[in-house]
Amino acid sequence: MENTERDFTESFQEIALNGPVVFIHWLIDEGTQMVDQITPNIKRIYGYTPEEVISGSVPLLTIIFEEDRKKFQDTLKLRIASNSPFWESFYRIYAKNGDIRFIKSYTYIKFHAFTSKTSIYSYLIDQTENDKEINMHVSLEQRWATAIDSAKDGVWDWDLKENIIFYSKHWKSMIGYKEHELLNELFEWRKRIHPLDIDKVDIIFNAHIYNNSSFIECEYRLLHADGTHRWILNRGKAVERNENGLAMRMIGTHVDITERKAIELMLKERNEELEHLVEQLKDLSNTDPLTSLCNRRKMIEEIKNAQNQFDLNKQQFTLAILDIDYFKNINDQYGHTFGDIALQTFANLLMRQISSPDVMGRWGGEEFILLFHNKSALETFHQLMSIQAGCNDLLKYRMEQVHLTFSAGLYEYNNYELLEDIIKYADQAMYRAKSLGRQQIIIHNKGLPVM
Ligand code: GH3
Ligand code: MG
Ligand code: MG
Repeated sequence: MENTERDFTESFQEIALNGPVVFIHWLIDEGTQMVDQITPNIKRIYGYTPEEVISGSVPLLTIIFEEDRKKFQDTLKLRIASNSPFWESFYRIYAKNGDIRFIKSYTYIKFHAFTSKTSIYSYLIDQTENDKEINMHVSLEQRWATAIDSAKDGVWDWDLKENIIFYSKHWKSMIGYKEHELLNELFEWRKRIHPLDIDKVDIIFNAHIYNNSSFIECEYRLLHADGTHRWILNRGKAVERNENGLAMRMIGTHVDITERKAIELMLKERNEELEHLVEQLKDLSNTDPLTSLCNRRKMIEEIKNAQNQFDLNKQQFTLAILDIDYFKNINDQYGHTFGDIALQTFANLLMRQISSPDVMGRWGGEEFILLFHNKSALETFHQLMSIQAGCNDLLKYRMEQVHLTFSAGLYEYNNYELLEDIIKYADQAMYRAKSLGRQQIIIHNKGLPVM
């Protein structure tokens, strides 16, 4: 009998050392968990020494896989509360080397009424090899769920067959809702799309549903719970199609791009402002500030363009240089400020009498340069004659009529000549007009001597 008992104890110790089942006894004393006894095979199977576990340097709860800890504690509480001492459970624990082991355990709880302690006895059976494959799947699904929940982007998953749609936690929180506040229904999304974006969204989604595009990518505004709109980038793809190619299930993500859109908008506005400024600068750089006519630089550009036109299609043009007669006298008699007014008044007369595509500019001082497209010197001569006539009662100083005339030289461009030369020819004709007594319009004639 003694021998049999010894045999039994020794064999049991042998199994406890080398067998696959760990036996553990722990106590709950005022909420703290203390391991009292544990079989030595824990070292071989899980890597911890019995001393580490018993001393509490490796607390029991920290060994249990994080995601299973709550379930483990809740079950324990429930069992204690309901006074049901036996149960079987499955959970994962961390081995000392970091591996995750899959455990099946049988537990028995014993209540010590006298000491008000609770003893817990468990067998832990390592099932890692058996359950690995099954658990891998569970774990993969769980991992996906965790990944989706913790992703910064919102995730949607639309089953078109059943017409149900799943929105992840962040899909909802991105537009200001808690998980339970939005239904898994398509209208929760559609009714929040900005009315100006809905057509675009429909076109892009339909194209993908009918298999006419390889993926979905569109930006639109979605109504937030706070009443504002958020810009969303939606990217998605069909993961299942029927035999006709119609999408049966689609999955996609939502990214909040409101900030990016605001920056884009600001940049667009800045660009427009800049373009406007550039236009203004361009105008300023082309305009004479006193008369608002073209300045010398712009007129040179215009003449060059006219020369190019001539090269292309032989379209002639006539250049005129006008110089106000005895302008110095006007300044001397009425003052420089009135002289400025006289220049502006004369410029206004030119603007009234000459229209696009003909252009006119201030050449400098009281000299003006005029470019007449597709007009001969003679046609221009007649037009300038009428301008000369317009000068007659143009200017008054107080009630007094101020005499204002000009002399002009014309040059009709009909050959390939240099810019400097055509200006020189018009200038020479203008000086000839001066020398002939002023208030004259002279057409440059290459045959005639210039005085
Ligand atoms: P001519 O018939 O020979 O052209 O005689 P003129 O007096 O017009 O010519 P002159 O070259 O002797 O004098 C031109 C005057 O035009 C001198 C200058 O003070 C005046 N002038 C040039 N630019 C301006 C301006 O912007 N404002 C005013 N008020 N006067 C100007
Ligand atoms: Mg002059
Ligand atoms: Mg003059």
